[in-house]
Amino acid sequence: MDLIPFLDRKRVARVVATAGTPVYVYDEATLRRQAAAALSFPSAFGLTARYAMKACPNAAILRLFAEAGMAIDASSGYEVARAIRAGVDPARISLSTQELPEDFAEWVRKGVTVNACSLGQLERFGRAFPGGRIGLRINPGLGSGGTTKTNTGGPASSFGIWHELLPQADEIIARHELVVFRIHSHIGSGSDPDVWVRVASMTLSFVEKYASVTHCNLGGGYKVARMPHEKGTDLRVIGTPVKRLFEEFAARTGRRLHLEIEPGTFMVANAGAIVTRIQDIITTGESGYRFLKLDTGMTELARPSLYGAQHPMKVVPANDEGSVRGEAEYIATGHCCESGDMLTPKAGEPETLEPRRLLEARVGDHLVIGGAGAYASAMATINYNSFPQAPEVLLRENGDVVLIRRRQTLDQVLQNEVLPSA
Ligand SMILES: *Cc1c(COP(=O)(O)O)cnc(C)c1O
Repeated sequence: MDLIPFLDRKRVARVVATAGTPVYVYDEATLRRQAAAALSFPSAFGLTARYAMKACPNAAILRLFAEAGMAIDASSGYEVARAIRAGVDPARISLSTQELPEDFAEWVRKGVTVNACSLGQLERFGRAFPGGRIGLRINPGLGSGGTTKTNTGGPASSFGIWHELLPQADEIIARHELVVFRIHSHIGSGSDPDVWVRVASMTLSFVEKYASVTHCNLGGGYKVARMPHEKGTDLRVIGTPVKRLFEEFAARTGRRLHLEIEPGTFMVANAGAIVTRIQDIITTGESGYRFLKLDTGMTELARPSLYGAQHPMKVVPANDEGSVRGEAEYIATGHCCESGDMLTPKAGEPETLEPRRLLEARVGDHLVIGGAGAYASAMATINYNSFPQAPEVLLRENGDVVLIRRRQTLDQVLQNEVLPSA
């Protein structure tokens, strides 16, 4: 089974000719397919599907999703600015952030909506916009993330206003005469419809307390299968019971709520790959391992070192000399002088090596790493060991390869350094 179907040998060669290695490749056909899937999430009374842009914020991707009909979820003031520069209408941007920027009022005046993620944020918003419209991000006390690092709900998560503190929120809301128009909850990665029904029910119970709420945002966290043994999310399966809950809520209360979802991972994870070059192959003897040393690593993909995340891989021979190759087991390792820079961990165990069976590799071959569209380019340890940030290309539906971010130069790596005078 080809785990990275949009990159065959010919396309890899074209990508490398365009931008060298390492390089991120995004497949336009997959991006459009995911946008269509998100936009057809079952909804009873209308839907806004927001792309959680922190997953992969390149302007070409923001524009593609915006043109497909998606709105934007931004995680910082800088992301808001970036989306606007990419051409997104500010009124289509919602900000849910851990750090409400000093200049947030400017964005709000342009049309950006805000979900208050703490009592402090709510107070600041109220002071700037008495009588204004605000969303509340609530931590409902329940989480479903894969690890504590990806869990965004429950007492160990700092995201959102803790549900028991809502009386304090109400005091701030009343004092500034704020209008709560949206309730937001985003509790982390999951593919289990029962968990989504529980989250939706809890979120609706908060909606019920605020008569002014017209929008209910269930966040993102739709798990995707990068590896064959992983389980992805079928949005119809998740969404159908949620739709029913909204219908029941309307029948009971007369309120027809607009649904919002905010997928990040789901939109881009399997639309992206990293094309790398195998620059050395070493062994640590009979009882050791064979290591593929790549021209990439945590500088392009931190997820394996951070979470023990597994990504599909395939060896693409550089020269098609016609010889038949066998298979072998390898550890794929990064180019940083850092023992944690390793790309084939045991699932969920970043400290443990797990050899991967691959086509027998030679120095100069390409190793293609799949599932690298989400939190790859966006979350890498850029410039560690002074490696320049890698370029990004878009693989168009017609097969063209177009550059959407250049490779950083050493001058750019150093441009903000200032030497003190001697
Ligand atoms: C990160 C984030 C998302 C997207 O999460 P995924 O797991 O990538 O789908 C959605 N909403 C908010 C508020 C987020 O912070």
